Amino acid sequence: MTRLSPADGPLLVASHNHGKIWEIRELMEPFGFEITSARDKGLDDPEETGTTFEENAAIKALASMRATGLVSLSDDSGLCIEALGGDPGIYSARWGGPERDFSMAMRNVEEKLQAAGATAPEQRRATFVAVLCLARPDGETRYFRGEVDGTIVWPPRGTSGFGYDPFFLPEGMDRTFGEMMSSEKHAWKPGQTTALSHRARAFRLFAREVLGVE
Ligand code: IMP
Repeated sequence: MTRLSPADGPLLVASHNHGKIWEIRELMEPFGFEITSARDKGLDDPEETGTTFEENAAIKALASMRATGLVSLSDDSGLCIEALGGDPGIYSARWGGPERDFSMAMRNVEEKLQAAGATAPEQRRATFVAVLCLARPDGETRYFRGEVDGTIVWPPRGTSGFGYDPFFLPEGMDRTFGEMMSSEKHAWKPGQTTALSHRARAFRLFAREVLGVE
């Protein structure tokens, strides 16, 4: 695909979610792009009618691109819990209700895990998934998927991050995403061979292919 550079104009983050906009802004910072967002532009949030992360990511990126003519990058993400058949998955935001109350959503998840008898760590496996979709004004779309496996812990720990961060313990770590500095959770910089979060892993693929950075 044609590479993207800051000279191509501002990059629009097709999201209204503060946490995501913040993380993508931090990830893009080293590359010198001017970043704006669907929130800054006052765009409506399109209805996410897809049945996969990819479909919903495309709906958001294309809606923002068509409304503004800017290259748009969306993120559709969620938490898939094995013992709950993959829920909340693409409905992760909706489980927070209209108020996007994730303390309530985490309690709801925990009640369902308890009801399923999932008390041992190996019964509480989960995967955070992020799919980035880049939409260009010519209609071309590209997808980048990142995943990170972990375990649901109870009670939630830490106050960093957003959404379901406080009760997700990434594999091989002894702190939840809620107990990590944002730089540790999602940082990825050129030359760094590993990335921790689902979003950073997807971003690394995006940076390789679209920005030409290893
Ligand atoms: P959507 O992609 O806008 O449908 O929303 C995804 C939802 O998944 C968010 O509102 C969060 O609740 C959750 N989520 C996605 N990524 C993360 C993350 O990095 N940390 C915590 N929660 C996340």
